[in-house]
Amino acid sequence: MRKPLIAGNWKMNMLRDSSLALVHGLLDSLGSNTTVDVAVCPPSVYLHDVGAAIRGSQIGLGAQNMHHQAEGAFTGEVSVQMLSDLGCRYVILGHSERRELFGETDASVNQKLMAALAGGLTPIVCVGETLEQRESGATEQVIAGQIRGSLADLTAHQSEKLVIAYEPVWAIGTGKTASPAQAEEVHAQIRGLLGELFGADQAQAVRIQYGGSVKPDNAAELLSQPNIDGALVGGASLKADSFAAIVAAAG
Ligand code: PEP
Repeated sequence: MRKPLIAGNWKMNMLRDSSLALVHGLLDSLGSNTTVDVAVCPPSVYLHDVGAAIRGSQIGLGAQNMHHQAEGAFTGEVSVQMLSDLGCRYVILGHSERRELFGETDASVNQKLMAALAGGLTPIVCVGETLEQRESGATEQVIAGQIRGSLADLTAHQSEKLVIAYEPVWAIGTGKTASPAQAEEVHAQIRGLLGELFGADQAQAVRIQYGGSVKPDNAAELLSQPNIDGALVGGASLKADSFAAIVAAAG
């Protein structure tokens, strides 16, 4: 049985005080649900403060990005060692905003993935098609290309820690969600591909999150699909009550 993972991607939102208020609200409203893994991914400048506030709780800390090198002349970047030094357990890699706005490619995501695993973090590797790609019938091919490219040279053993987030670009921050059937179709395809790459047993162990306008009122139906193992949540993770309701829908 795969334990669902609900992760909040705060993107470039919140300040120090509002970050702390949000996690304190979450700590109050989550209760002791141990059937779901929960993570928050604040902006990197608040990882320390948020990490201190959630230490010892069921909420794990995650980063939104990292550099693949361990150290050096990479102005503005953070390494996996820095993230784990701050108590991070997760790192989001290859979010569509990073691919679209910051030039990340499957090859750069792959370098980060290898570094994240070597540094002991659980990577959340994002894939997803644009509206144009979906409408032209290219979804399956696009997703397969992103999975094969982003996971290149990963071994079956390394895939044990892997989390994939399927996030159709047209559903991110738009209020449009993939229907449960649309999402499940792609999740099943991804699991099939993971089976080809790592073997059927390994593929069964990998968690595949859905992301794209997940809200309290659509979470339960999405999360009840057989191959949807959690959610990567943007907008609805910025309010304690809505994020806690999504966690409750996964439990
Ligand atoms: C995201 O940023 O990963 C995301 C899914 O955002 P939203 O939930 O706001 O669509």
